[in-house]
Amino acid sequence: KFEELPQLEGNNEVASLVRSLNRMLHRLESAWQTQTRFLLDASHELRTPVTAILGHVGYLMRRTQLTPQQRESLEVVAREGERMRKLVGDLLELSQTGGWRVELGSVHIPTVLYEIQEEYGRSFEGRIEVEAPDNLWAVGDPERLHQVIANLVSNAIKANSTQIRLVARDLSERLVIRVEDNGEGIPPEHLPHLFERFYRVDKARDRERGGSGLGLAIVRSIVEAHGGSVWVESEPGKGSVFSVSLKRAEAPQPELAG
Ligand code: ADP
Repeated sequence: KFEELPQLEGNNEVASLVRSLNRMLHRLESAWQTQTRFLLDASHELRTPVTAILGHVGYLMRRTQLTPQQRESLEVVAREGERMRKLVGDLLELSQTGGWRVELGSVHIPTVLYEIQEEYGRSFEGRIEVEAPDNLWAVGDPERLHQVIANLVSNAIKANSTQIRLVARDLSERLVIRVEDNGEGIPPEHLPHLFERFYRVDKARDRERGGSGLGLAIVRSIVEAHGGSVWVESEPGKGSVFSVSLKRAEAPQPELAG
C-alpha cells in the first residue's frame, strides 16, 4: 500500500499540492493493483489449457502404434508443454508474491538449511555442506524462505557445481545466508540484470535447462517482502555466491504450562 500524505487544512498552495499528490498516489496504487491482478488472472487462466494439453499428449504417447516421427513430434509437444506449465507456475507465483502475502513469524534457519541439504543431496552427485549456528532465527515465512534457498541451490546445481555450501551468519540485528557454489560462474556484465524478470545469461543454454528466467525475480520479490535483500558475487570459472540478508528474530519462548 502506498502511504497517503496527511491532509492539510485550508486552501493554500501546499494543501492543494498535497491533495494532488494524494490523488496521484491513489491512481498509482490502482494501476499497480490492476497490473498484479491481470498477471494473476492470466497465469491462472493459462493453467487449465496447459494441463489439458499435457494430459492428452500423455495419453497419445502411451499408445504403442506410433511411427518414430509421430513419437518424436509428440515428445516435442510434451517437452514444450512442460516448459509452458513451469512458466505459468512461475508467473502465478510471481504475481502472488509480488504483493506482500508472507506470514511473518520466527523461522529456525538451520532447520531450513538441513532440510534443503537432505532434499537436494539425494539427486545431486556433488556435496552440499551446511554451516549454521544452532540458535539462529529469522523473521520470516518458513515456506517462502525454504523456496528462496531451494531456488538458489537448484540454480547452483544447474551451473554444474560439484560443491555447494549453505552458510548462515549471525550479524546481531540481521543475519545473512550464503549459497556458495563452485559452478561455472556468471560474467560481470550480467550481474546487474540477474534478478530481472525473464533475464537469462545464455538464452539457448538456459532454455535447454528448462529455465524461464523468473526464478531469481521470484527470489528477490519474496526476500523483499521480508524486508530483506539479496545480492550476488561471481567469478566466471570459479563459482558464485548468492547472499540473502534477513531480520534476525529471537528464539520463540517455549509455551508455559498451565
Ligand atoms: P531460471 O528460472 O531460468 O533458472 P533465474 O532467474 O533463476 O532463471 O536465473 C537467471 C540466470 O542466472 C540464468 O540464466 C542462470 O543461468 C543464471 N544463474 C543463476 N544462478 C546461477 C549460478 N549459481 N551460477 C551460474 N549462473 C546462474
